[in-house]
Amino acid sequence: MLIILDEVTTGFRLAFGGGQECFGLSPDLVTYGKAMAGGLPAGALAGRTDIMKALSPTDNRPAVFAGNTFAGNPLSVAASFATLSYLSEHRDTVYGNLEKSAAHLADSLNAYWSETDAPLHIARFGSMLRLFLQPGPVNRDKSAGPGFGPAEDAFFVHLLGRGVTLHASRSIHLSTAHTREDLDLAIEAMIGATDDCAADGLFRNIQ
Ligand SMILES: *Cc1c(COP(=O)(O)O)cnc(C)c1O
Repeated sequence: MLIILDEVTTGFRLAFGGGQECFGLSPDLVTYGKAMAGGLPAGALAGRTDIMKALSPTDNRPAVFAGNTFAGNPLSVAASFATLSYLSEHRDTVYGNLEKSAAHLADSLNAYWSETDAPLHIARFGSMLRLFLQPGPVNRDKSAGPGFGPAEDAFFVHLLGRGVTLHASRSIHLSTAHTREDLDLAIEAMIGATDDCAADGLFRNIQ
């Protein structure tokens, strides 16, 4: 059996050793992207030597041909090298600070929403957050509802009017570039959008 772990989102984000470090996993192959290149497009595959040899570009006839648009792209590789060097050197502070930022964002908003009985909640693991249009806590797939069309659309529009745009997936991935001021601006905008929706009566039928 071959275990392949997708660390495209979690790699170098949850910890320097990614999800593998957090959950104590030892996969045979791992995919990486996103945070690895610090914002540039890149992807990488890492794994057991015998498997990687089958893909080796130095072999004239590799058992499996592997190629992609950004394979070995000099800019993406340089960005990845710079990002990983920085993270490796600063891992003792970077991940702790990122955790504090993410906790500040999620905890401030969840506290406001539970105080005001607004049907919103942010579920969080490390610096990966997702907004749910339903009362919290949301900690299992089964407890995540489908969302509510008009209230959700209005929340996004009110938020946009306050200078904050959310990804359509409602997920938020914090970066080390986000300052405390950025986070407080986002918190203020989300609280404002919550109040706007409540004033419009949009939360009335959401339990
Ligand atoms: C973004 C993402 C992908 C896709 O990565 P590509 O580099 O666009 O192929 C795969 N898995 C997860 C978990 C992702 O977040």
